[in-house]
Parts: sequence; C-alpha cells; structure tokens
Amino acid sequence: MASADFLEANGKYAANFEKPDRSLLRNVIIECSPYDQLGLKLGEVITIRNAGGSAKEALRSIMVAQHFIGVTGEIAVFHHKDCGMSRVTTEAMRGLVRIANPGRADIAATVDGIDFYQIDHIEESVKADVRFLAENPLVVKGTKISGWIYDVDTGKASRRSL
Ligand SMILES: [Zn+2]
Repeated sequence: MASADFLEANGKYAANFEKPDRSLLRNVIIECSPYDQLGLKLGEVITIRNAGGSAKEALRSIMVAQHFIGVTGEIAVFHHKDCGMSRVTTEAMRGLVRIANPGRADIAATVDGIDFYQIDHIEESVKADVRFLAENPLVVKGTKISGWIYDVDTGKASRRSL
C-alpha cells in the first residue's frame, strides 16, 4: 500500500467511524501482530504494540496508561507463534544496524546498548514478561497481569498460567 492509498482507506474508515466511549477504557494489551480476535471495540482497551509484544519495551507506555490516563485494569501480554522476534537475536539485530551504517561508531555504540528482547522460547517468554510486570514496582500494585499466546495459523488465543 502506497501512502496515497491511506487517504482512500481512511475515507472508508472515517465514513463509518464512531467516536469511542472513553468511559469503557479499562485494560491494556501488549502485542506484536495486529488482530481483532478478542472482540474488543475501539476505545475499550489501550493497545501497546512493539516487535515481539515485549513487556519490557512497553513499560513506559504502561506507566503513562496507569498513572496519567488512569487505566488500571488488567494488562494482557500477547506473544504470537511464528513471531519474527523468535527468528532474530539481539546480536544479529545489532549487526544488521551496524552493516546499514558503515563507519558510524556512534551508531554502533548506541545499538550495542539496545536489548532487542529476542524470543528464544515463546512459552517462557510470555511467562517471563508476566513475571516482569507482576514484580515491577513501577506497575500499580495489585494490577492483574495475564499472559497469552496467539496462534497465527489457527487464529486462536490461549491463556498461559505461570
Ligand atoms: Zn511478532
């Protein structure tokens, strides 16, 4: 899709747009791939998306959601099968950025300080992210945290317990 197509697509979207009712806003979802399998309506949830659905990378946005917007319901961490972050390591990502920026020691130094949160094992990664949030003092005490795995082949989401 070219950016010019955005206007046409957005025109269709806006024609049926209903402004979300912010009073319904309760929960936070962290995810990687876009999907609407949860039957949520626009405005019912804050969606934090990043590569891998990393809770660590999402922490800043969680703090804004909880402390500024006042959304203190459940935080659902979604990792998905066949995720790109299970096929690339932090070291490989650093190498790709270095190769794209030859002779740039400043960029090399910066990227060497970035953890790309590779997913070695999806079952372990989603549980580790739930633990990270549950034990994190920056997350509002008592927040319900759940871990989920989304199967891109079947479209099914399943809950994981610690
Ligand atoms: Zn992914």
